[in-house]
Amino acid sequence: MPQLFPFSAIVGQDDLRRALVLNAVRPDIGGVLVRGERGTAKSTAARGLAALLPPIRAVVGCPYACDPDRTAQLCERCMALLEDGLDLPSGLRPTPFVDLPVSATEDRVVGTLDIEHVLATGERRFEPGVLASANRGLLYIDEVNLLDDHVVDVLLDAAAMGVNVVEREGVSFSHPARFILVGTMNPEEGELRPQLTDRFGLSVTVGAVHDVELRTEILRRRLAYDDDPDTFMARWSASEAALRERILAGRDGLGRVDITDNDLRLAARLVAAAGVDGHRAEIAILKTAQANAAFEGRTTISVADMALAARLALPHRQRRGPLEGGSSDMVAVHEVLAQADRDGLETAADGMTSLADGQPQHGKGDPLAPDADGPKSGGFSF
Ligand SMILES: [Zn+2]
Repeated sequence: MPQLFPFSAIVGQDDLRRALVLNAVRPDIGGVLVRGERGTAKSTAARGLAALLPPIRAVVGCPYACDPDRTAQLCERCMALLEDGLDLPSGLRPTPFVDLPVSATEDRVVGTLDIEHVLATGERRFEPGVLASANRGLLYIDEVNLLDDHVVDVLLDAAAMGVNVVEREGVSFSHPARFILVGTMNPEEGELRPQLTDRFGLSVTVGAVHDVELRTEILRRRLAYDDDPDTFMARWSASEAALRERILAGRDGLGRVDITDNDLRLAARLVAAAGVDGHRAEIAILKTAQANAAFEGRTTISVADMALAARLALPHRQRRGPLEGGSSDMVAVHEVLAQADRDGLETAADGMTSLADGQPQHGKGDPLAPDADGPKSGGFSF
């Protein structure tokens, strides 16, 4: 396998990295829509995250990479083996990373049911598609706005349900399809329909890094990596391992983070202030805030967690664009957060710490901390 630039060595793009990490802690956040120009770190970050995640234990020979320890989520084939009293042989494989080509057809994505075979033999035969390969991994779609709307629809359905259901002529087949969906788009090349945008859990707008110090550090690391990838990887392996451990600890700690009535109320007020309809935004905010608290090793949700979650979960769901009053809606969101902060909802000034603990240090402070250069108001940034 070719070497990949380490996730924790990516400079800047803090919201993108944070959104990806939180989806790794909690895939049911619903993925990330990444908006931005070409040449930003989108693909590097998504690939890097998959490479960072630990190998998965999977049933040998299963096209869906079933987890032998989760018998409730087995595919039909593995379930049949189990019911026949056979052991499920398992082995480790890397966390899947699937790069979906923009030309992908629905058949290629969901797989195909061989109806003629069913008619001839009475047995179903299924050719797995992309959703099978992506199970328990990361599905990356570059330029998702150029993909056929119907295919995006199917992908988002599977992402939300964790299962891929294929039906043809009264015959149905389903298999597990739990994956982190990362879609990128360049808004200059056309928008995604709002109905589709809304179903991505989070969104991030990435742009070129303008800070000279950060740009210098990006160059320094890129040159060092190109010069000698093995040495570069070795130098970052401790940082990668530390982040991996934090993600795993976050997964473990998720169930211990309480969502209080105050958190629910705050989520509802944030969504109302942003002028967003429906409950998807509130749910995304709460799941994201909870994941961030768990990732940071806390058992309560802070205003900083909610501010981060609002920043990631609201903008792509706003009805009004920046020129149509959307900006003033975001000011209202900020005021709701400031009020919550004053009201003394649990606030942790260090709500967001660096994603790259233990990494080689460079310069003063920690420019990788997501809120290092953001506006500060009380204990949160927005
Ligand atoms: Zn299976």
